[in-house]
Amino acid sequence: MSRKTFIGKSISTGTGMGNLFVIQDYELNINNDIVELSQIENEITALEVAVCKTFIEIHDLKDGFKGILSEEENRIFEFYKEVLDDRTFFEEMRNTIKEKRYSATKAIYTCIQKYIDDLTQSNDEYIKLRIYDLNDIRKRLIKNMYDECETNIGKINSNHIAVVKELTPIIAATLSKKNVKGVVAQEGAGYYSHGSIILRSSGIPTIGDISFEKLANEEDSFSIIDCTSNILVVEPEELEVLNYKSTINYHINNKEIENRGPVSTKDGHAVGIHANISNVRDFSIAKTINIDGIGLVRTEALFINYKKIPDEKRQFLIYSKIAKDMAGKPVVIRTADVGGDKVPESLGINSESLKRSSRGIKRSLEQKSEFMIQLKSIIRAAEFGDVRVSFPMVSNVQEIREVKDIINKLTEDLILNNKEVKKIKIGALIETASAVEQLDEILKEVDFISIGTNDLLHQICNYNRKCSPLEKRTYLEPELLRKIKYCIDRAIHINKKVSVCGEMAADLEAAVILIGMGVHELSLNPVSCSNISKFIRSINFNEAKKLAKDVIECSSIEGVKDILAHWMCSGM
Ligand code: PEP
Ligand code: MG
Repeated sequence: MSRKTFIGKSISTGTGMGNLFVIQDYELNINNDIVELSQIENEITALEVAVCKTFIEIHDLKDGFKGILSEEENRIFEFYKEVLDDRTFFEEMRNTIKEKRYSATKAIYTCIQKYIDDLTQSNDEYIKLRIYDLNDIRKRLIKNMYDECETNIGKINSNHIAVVKELTPIIAATLSKKNVKGVVAQEGAGYYSHGSIILRSSGIPTIGDISFEKLANEEDSFSIIDCTSNILVVEPEELEVLNYKSTINYHINNKEIENRGPVSTKDGHAVGIHANISNVRDFSIAKTINIDGIGLVRTEALFINYKKIPDEKRQFLIYSKIAKDMAGKPVVIRTADVGGDKVPESLGINSESLKRSSRGIKRSLEQKSEFMIQLKSIIRAAEFGDVRVSFPMVSNVQEIREVKDIINKLTEDLILNNKEVKKIKIGALIETASAVEQLDEILKEVDFISIGTNDLLHQICNYNRKCSPLEKRTYLEPELLRKIKYCIDRAIHINKKVSVCGEMAADLEAAVILIGMGVHELSLNPVSCSNISKFIRSINFNEAKKLAKDVIECSSIEGVKDILAHWMCSGM
């Protein structure tokens, strides 16, 4: 065997080594014969049985992932259950068998194909991604018609790199549970697909867009998956293996914890490393790694995960637990960012009313009583640590003034009720174009700002985040970089702390630009914190400054990528 490389698009971070394990695709065994009249009822019964079996299969899988996936991620399976439980869909298949005298397998195939064809027409990338889910449901239904055995996925183990033709949420969840070394997929691994979300948040290095057919011949070959370079190296050379071994990531289950205190560049420039947390699992990881604090608690996750809005007591318990466990390190609690692609069932918002409703702080100010409960819980939790509060999707300074008035009022009431109250630091997420325009005014009102590059990027590119076609590294867009630089400069000018808390902060090359721009802190998913810390310790601030200066003068994203590639190749 000789060394081969396969280039794709990575959707998570990290590096892994292991033997390739090719996950067999289900064979779609379709009976194309016209069904005898006397056999029609039998076909319908077989269809019913297959639907039931598939439903139970999904239900069991979902149950099996409790405690491993967050509730939010577990809800991905609900889509499968809804489709299988949909009477209209069942009737459609049933009528196709009766009227067209199709076999049950052919009825399943054609009826689902009709939906897939409809979805293919959609311009909504998020909806298009459901095609993979429908395909998976179809395969499972047909497999269950014949009682065919499962694929070989059950045999994969934590020493393998999985090769899959089509990444579905279920395959992703199974691979996450098996804690594989990496995943390579041909389809279904778009940056925002459900399967990708699961693997990314499990810290499993994953690369999409690599031909399944070519890799199917490489079964069992020792390989390296490297998300930084978007590459899978099959049968690497010995020296390469040694190099990768020395740089290999702090994978979530390596339990390798960097406990070397504060993070700074080789030439002594300090950078705060904070974690973003959206669920219990994120928090458990955050507690085990060397970080300076929690830079973003996405509290809307609470509203999404609970069937009803958590009351003051519950919210207080959760926020104070985070504060206590962080033992005096700063914890920035962001008030609920409801709206956009974040739709909690508990608030009774459906996708239609959502289109008309506001998002982030604007919505909170419209829903005062719900907002006051949350603010009060946060203020009370401050007694147990360095709790700070920040506000999402701020679009003007007036909103900040209004929330400050509410906080003052709540604080006075608590004091009147003999409650211990600590003064709480106030921050704003800078993630809308209008917040950037009003930045100087906003900065005067707050103690710190966090730049939310995920939303800011989508605003600049004029895309709805829910169905975003934007690729991961679009955040290297010079226009976004210039806006970030402006925000950092203005904050430093007025002596206020500034952090970046979007996905961008977890990308090594993007992080070096942010550091060169002078950002004080990076807040990122906990899985990537150790890797970023290690990387920062290997770079020079002076070089990062020069790099940042050069990239913001670029006129295109390609120019930025060229400069970065050149810098990486020059050995940093
Ligand atoms: C952001 O927009 O960059 C951000 C951190 O907020 P969220 O991803 O929660 O919208
Ligand atoms: Mg945001």
